Amino acid sequence: MAYLKKSPWLLHYDASSCNGCDIEVLACLTPLYDVERFGIINTGNPKHADVLVITGGINELNRQVVRNIYNQMPEPRVVVAVGICASSGGVFRECYNIAGGVDQVIPVDVYVPGCAARPESIIDGIVQALGILEEKRTKMKEQEAQR
Ligand code: SF4
Repeated sequence: MAYLKKSPWLLHYDASSCNGCDIEVLACLTPLYDVERFGIINTGNPKHADVLVITGGINELNRQVVRNIYNQMPEPRVVVAVGICASSGGVFRECYNIAGGVDQVIPVDVYVPGCAARPESIIDGIVQALGILEEKRTKMKEQEAQR
């Protein structure tokens, strides 16, 4: 736990994005940005993830999927909504099948602006999320000590 901040594991889920933001998330893993040099690992298993990175808005089909992913992640956990669609529904907000942003179904800790969100903004959002993760971890430790 002490080294969690230095080696966070991420899970990326595409809710209903146009794939524009997904491409930018993947760009963060390419040699140009190379987030793995900070110890950040992209995992496919929610049970191993500290940070949930979501692109796209919530619709009726993915509503429960997003909840299930979130509920499988161990605490403490943080959620980063990447792009305006994940933040509010974005350009698809008025569509008949879109309920809105990710915070319609789970708590969101960081909102990354943009359409598409730039890799620099995504990395900045994840760095913010790591600070929040550390705060949550400290709070959990304090609560455990009080028991
Ligand atoms: S914010 Fe823009 S690029 Fe990202 S999923 Fe929505 S429409 Fe696509």
